[in-house]
Amino acid sequence: MKQQTITIDEVIKAFKNPPTSEGEKLVRDAFEFARDAHGDQKRESGMPYIHHPLSTAKILATIGMDARTVAAGLLHDVPEDTPETLTTISKKFGPDIAQMIEGITKLGRIKLRGTKEEHKLENWRRMFLAMGADIRTVIIKLADRLHNMQTLEHLRPDKQIRIANETMEIYVPIANRLGIGEIRGELADLCFMYLQPKEYQYTKNISETKLKEKKLYVDKAITEIGAALKNEGITTIDIHGRAKNIQSLYLKLQKHDMDINRVFDLIAVRVIVQDVAACYETLGIVHKKYRPMIGRIKDYISLPKPNGYQSIHTTVFGPDGRVLEAQIRTQKMHDEAEFGIAAHWLYETQKTKGWKSYFLPKKNEISKKEVEWVQQLKEWQEDLGNNPEEFMEGLKVDFLKNHIFAFTPLGDIIELPEGASVVDFAYAIHTDVGHMTIGARIDGKMSSLDSVVENGQIVEIITDRNRKLPNQDWLEFVKTSNAKSSIRRALKRAQEVENEK
Ligand code: MN
Repeated sequence: MKQQTITIDEVIKAFKNPPTSEGEKLVRDAFEFARDAHGDQKRESGMPYIHHPLSTAKILATIGMDARTVAAGLLHDVPEDTPETLTTISKKFGPDIAQMIEGITKLGRIKLRGTKEEHKLENWRRMFLAMGADIRTVIIKLADRLHNMQTLEHLRPDKQIRIANETMEIYVPIANRLGIGEIRGELADLCFMYLQPKEYQYTKNISETKLKEKKLYVDKAITEIGAALKNEGITTIDIHGRAKNIQSLYLKLQKHDMDINRVFDLIAVRVIVQDVAACYETLGIVHKKYRPMIGRIKDYISLPKPNGYQSIHTTVFGPDGRVLEAQIRTQKMHDEAEFGIAAHWLYETQKTKGWKSYFLPKKNEISKKEVEWVQQLKEWQEDLGNNPEEFMEGLKVDFLKNHIFAFTPLGDIIELPEGASVVDFAYAIHTDVGHMTIGARIDGKMSSLDSVVENGQIVEIITDRNRKLPNQDWLEFVKTSNAKSSIRRALKRAQEVENEK
């Protein structure tokens, strides 16, 4: 990968949501301060050090972060690597920016060295706490890591492997959980390239050959779909083709005996329209034009993916009867798919416009999603205490694994990790419901308590008021830490009561 020096003007131009003049001044001030602080320091590549914070800041601006976060990105290595201190930064740029940088500096000390499991656990724990404290810190850290991965070729091979491993284990899942598809895809491809060079090259070749072959055909589909929509009076914001990233393609190929002809979504046509109603109208128009493949319509608009992803996917027999995937979404869904939680800043600032002071965070910047998340973090911490191993277990299941959405008969959505059982569902409704569970109907059918709940199912829990205690055996199949700790607590309490008798 070639490195070019980038300028602060490029960073300003990269803002997805252009800053106010005050915001721009803040970013320029931060740049000058960082540039002077780093002085003539150099990166391993031989580039002036300031190239790294500039690149980090550019990534942040591109994914829609605001001026304060971009400024923090410019300053992120100052306290660690230069004589300037956090106190000076706080005086010059305000406590909000200083706190973000303090968080990044703390995270920077996380190094996944050796094979010791407890080190990994501790690293995870710190990352997790930082997320709870200020999610922006983790987003800056992701941008920082992305640029470090982009320039990894300049490091020694053993360091390349160590950093790529650490990135794959920690940063890729976090980018995924935060829904930042842009960063997740690039990070995963870079890790794949360093960790499995042969497989990477093989997959890349397949992808490039196929894409070349499909180019004309995809262009034709774009033209035809565009014309059909125009005919029906649908305004399109954008129609473009998008190729799958290399690492995801490799995973998909593995699932299909390495047969590229069985991968239908190597390249998809994306249609971006004005609102949700237009998404469904577009689906109808695409299906009128091209015959849909049975069982391949996925409506992630009414049933979003666990990380919040929304879109309609359909596989159709496109031009010349060849298989094609179309993805239909609004601009907001598109931005959220590419930039995940970062898109929140984009839409929030657009709504509130007025930029009063960059020294204090605006209260309304905290979305409901974020509040829920921080709340969940706190509960986990209280539940799991200081035992890092148990903490990690809970983290693995609850946080990183993909979640499914199921419904109560009244239509309330219950979010669960994949593989969760009917009993997990019951405890997710309420602890007492969990304790009193004696049976369940899944989509109307009687099911055993250890049945796995699937995405989109309606689960009716049958309770018995006279039942006061959970069954010890449930611990063998429940998946959520919520259900586990509720069952344990209830059994322990019952035991204590028993002992006092
Ligand atoms: Mn850095």
